Amino acid sequence: MNGYTKKCLITGGAGFIGSQLARRLLLQGCEVTVIDNLFTGSKGNIYDLMQNPKFTFLIHDVTQPFWGQFDEIYNLACPASPIHYQHNPVETIKTSVLGIMNMLELALKTKARIFHTSTSEVYGDPDVHPQPEYYWGNVNTIGIRSCYDEGKRAAETICADYLRQYGVDVRMIRIFNTYGPCMHPHDGRVVSNFIVQALQNKNITIYGNGQQSRSFQYVDDLLDAIQLYMALPRAKVERFFSEKGIAVPVINVGNPGEFTIRELAEMVLALLPESKSKIINEDLPKDDPKRRRPDITLAKELLGWEPRIKLSEGLPKTIEYFRALIKGN
Ligand code: NAD
Ligand code: UDP
Repeated sequence: MNGYTKKCLITGGAGFIGSQLARRLLLQGCEVTVIDNLFTGSKGNIYDLMQNPKFTFLIHDVTQPFWGQFDEIYNLACPASPIHYQHNPVETIKTSVLGIMNMLELALKTKARIFHTSTSEVYGDPDVHPQPEYYWGNVNTIGIRSCYDEGKRAAETICADYLRQYGVDVRMIRIFNTYGPCMHPHDGRVVSNFIVQALQNKNITIYGNGQQSRSFQYVDDLLDAIQLYMALPRAKVERFFSEKGIAVPVINVGNPGEFTIRELAEMVLALLPESKSKIINEDLPKDDPKRRRPDITLAKELLGWEPRIKLSEGLPKTIEYFRALIKGN
């Protein structure tokens, strides 16, 4: 649309991924409103955006309804790290379930296109490897990770029903472990933990024997996929998923490169040879998934996308971010 300024709402936009998305959309000329309750996000992540006249920040909890006229809604609000989502599990599941319902209501009333961040956690501790979208998962309904996993699964169901029942234009991505600048240094996730520990010469804490695996995606690759997906015409999205026999638009987005947690620790230490850190083993948390790797066939076909940034390239960029952050504190 010539001369038209797209209006975007980002929930959770003061967090790691949301703040990076806000920065990108502003650079592309969009008007961006961020709502966030600052549970795990921070004003520091969006400090540089505050002076931009096209940027608005509001403290708001997504469990409460929100009103405004937007072309696109990006629903990211939800703590993503196990230590944070387990801190107040009732609040976590409320954020997932009530948050998406409030945003879908807004999308329905204002005819906005809506994007929802789902997660590889919907597959739980998978017994199919790698995980395709067709796989329904292996999830404990009553464990310590369930507030997050089941909250996200319920959110997918709610998205599917708002699409079927009311025709809301909703698109979902199941994000696999993503890392990069703007992660919280005490977030508790493995990449940030290992880098911060190595920079501070503290012990590198491998939980369990370190043979569990994850696939790590650099944040820029995820942002590319989100933007390609949201730019697709609705008819194309509907045709694609109907041909694939998938009820609603949901795709995996992640980097299929799979590493054990021990390999990750060794890579971080190799990149920081001056570090005096030693690897130690601590107890494996309950219900910790053993393996995880995305099957990204659908994302490749639909978006013509695949990740470009290898772990060996993304880790140094992330190390530089944390080095500067720690030095500045
Ligand atoms: P993050 O914790 O850095 O960001 C989440 C943001 O949501 C924070 O700014 C937090 O303050 C805000 N928030 C939490 N509860 C809220 C509420 N009730 N109301 C308003 N704001 C609230 O996490 P992230 O890594 O940026 O994750 C963003 C989204 O992507 C989350 O929905 C997460 O589940 C999903 N995701 C992330 C990953 C990953 O590896 N980073 C993987 C899968 C899915
Ligand atoms: N992990 C670890 N040491 C840490 C933090 C995490 O060994 O300091 C392990 C954790 O047990 C899991 C993997 O790293 O097996 C990824 O953990 P993270 O919390 O980053 O993501 P998730 O488990 O949600 O995929």
